[in-house]
Amino acid sequence: MTRIPPRTRNVRILATLGPASDSPEMIRRLYLAGADAFRINLSHGAHEDHAARIAAIRALEREFGRPSTILGDLQGPKLRVGAFADGLAMLETGNAFVLDRDDAPGDSRRVNLPHPEIYEALVPDARLLLDDGKMVLRVKSVTEDRIETIVEVGGALSNRKGVNVPDVVVPVPALTDKDRRDLSFAMQQGMDWIALSFVQRPEDLAEARKLMGGYGALMAKIEKPSAVQRLAEIIEMADGVMVARGDLGVELPPQSVPPLQKQIVETARRLGRPVVVATQMLESMIKAPTPTRAEVSDVATAVYDGADAIMLSAETAAGDWPEEAVAMMDSIAHSVERDPGYLARLHFTQTAPDPTTADALAEAAAGIVPVVDATVITCFTSSGSTVRRVARERPGAPILALTPRQDTARRMGLLWGVHAVRTKDIGHFEEMVGKARRMALRHHLTTKGRKIVVLAGVPFGTPGSTNVLHVATVRGDELKGRE
Ligand code: PGA
Ligand code: MN
Repeated sequence: MTRIPPRTRNVRILATLGPASDSPEMIRRLYLAGADAFRINLSHGAHEDHAARIAAIRALEREFGRPSTILGDLQGPKLRVGAFADGLAMLETGNAFVLDRDDAPGDSRRVNLPHPEIYEALVPDARLLLDDGKMVLRVKSVTEDRIETIVEVGGALSNRKGVNVPDVVVPVPALTDKDRRDLSFAMQQGMDWIALSFVQRPEDLAEARKLMGGYGALMAKIEKPSAVQRLAEIIEMADGVMVARGDLGVELPPQSVPPLQKQIVETARRLGRPVVVATQMLESMIKAPTPTRAEVSDVATAVYDGADAIMLSAETAAGDWPEEAVAMMDSIAHSVERDPGYLARLHFTQTAPDPTTADALAEAAAGIVPVVDATVITCFTSSGSTVRRVARERPGAPILALTPRQDTARRMGLLWGVHAVRTKDIGHFEEMVGKARRMALRHHLTTKGRKIVVLAGVPFGTPGSTNVLHVATVRGDELKGRE
């Protein structure tokens, strides 16, 4: 096993895999460049290809002895056009264009749209936005199998591009049949997080939970105006949340996305759910080895906002510079986190503790760090819930999460500032302190003579029992005769 030092940044990088990053070599390079977690986009690709990617990610876990984190992203009720004879077609502004139920390959005059619900829901004058809103069609007339439109904004439309219909409510279920198949595949493959797309109501999450039956962690993607209206309820129902700016900025005017990003990140942080900021973060790096200044600033803003993770989509899935995109994100994050004003800015967001012992101790642990200049908060955890509450404090030292459970260790890979280590359970107090010191040293999170903060629950191994807060000094010889 090759030991590599832990990441020295708090924000996590989530990289989407795809054709540009399929090979085990490339996945490994992305990991070494700074990708902490990987997104498998279940909208695209075959299960066997996803299984190969998962195997490559888990192989890194064995190579580097660090838990790996996989997010399976369900497509949800996303509407897409069918395929074109030439792979794409030019839609000219002002021309007529037809969407129909005929699954023959399309051309510049028509294409298949395989969603019966949409034919019922659309009305004349409604807009169809294609490929993240790049092209706009205006409905002239609609029957049960044919939508006649005028191209208001033209462009090149390629196979299976997304369609948004912000002007009407399309009565679609939270999980399609494909999502159900993909979900059972994701569970069978042991993916750690499941993301649900186009969540509209808290009930959508309840439906997914029922199918998951206590398995894994559930992330709500906020990309519909209706989800924004019930934001706190939805976040509370979920284990994590994604600011899915791609579809959000199509369904709503793009200028409404920045204030919503602030609102979603803040609400998630207040409720103690990890939050991912996603989409177009380094978009120009799909084609170029360097980003625009505006993109760099956008990534930096998400880090200053205190997001748990920042995501790369097409940059790593389909771009020409996947490794460079991860490395760029990594260096932007480092640069922000080195800014002396960084922590103070993070703490603009108030996260008052809930009236629980775990929150009281989490807040106290974060408070102790600057007072005694502690190097790390070491936290023994079973389900990971205490670690989430400590991460919520955005403390001024990294969090070393020690857990005997593999699923918990893997799931924590999306949490701000958390380094998860899988370790055998402990029996008594002395053992706990010894192990905390040893682990902090072994993982390069402390040095001789420095202080560490230790959080645990007694009796050990009982979820929800966190009740011990201890400050220990590292002697420096704890690893002798151990490794
Ligand atoms: P997607 O979700 O990449 O699966 O569409 C993210 C977004 O919409 O921003
Ligand atoms: Mn989306």
